[in-house]
Amino acid sequence: MYNCAKCPGYCCSYPLIQLTKRDVGRLAKYFGLSFAKARKKFTKVEVGAKYAMRRKADVHFGRVCRFFDTEERRCTVYKARPTICREYPGGRCGYYDFLASERASQNDPSHIATTWNK
Ligand code: SF4
Ligand code: SF4
Repeated sequence: MYNCAKCPGYCCSYPLIQLTKRDVGRLAKYFGLSFAKARKKFTKVEVGAKYAMRRKADVHFGRVCRFFDTEERRCTVYKARPTICREYPGGRCGYYDFLASERASQNDPSHIATTWNK
């Protein structure tokens, strides 16, 4: 249905990647940090989100998750990734469908679609 290994990681560029307290604790343990240090280093407060993932610049999508490898286009904390990342996208990925269609129509298997209207 979708193949994240062939995708430039669109879902990691979502403006709000919300974490739970448990997610922050998992990252803290993964990096050997205290909860407070992990919270400060990896998250920020957003409207409606006590723990929102910090982001960084990306050449394709503008901003992406701070844990995204922008060269390899993959997650660098896969084993410690937040719950929302574990559950996404469910049965089918709309972006991947769009990307596959764009690549087919442009006859370019490496094309990166940077805009997608959900
Ligand atoms: S946008 Fe879809 S295909 Fe791409 S990494 Fe995310 S879940 Fe995988
Ligand atoms: S933690 Fe990993 S899977 Fe989740 S948004 Fe960040 S880079 Fe993507």
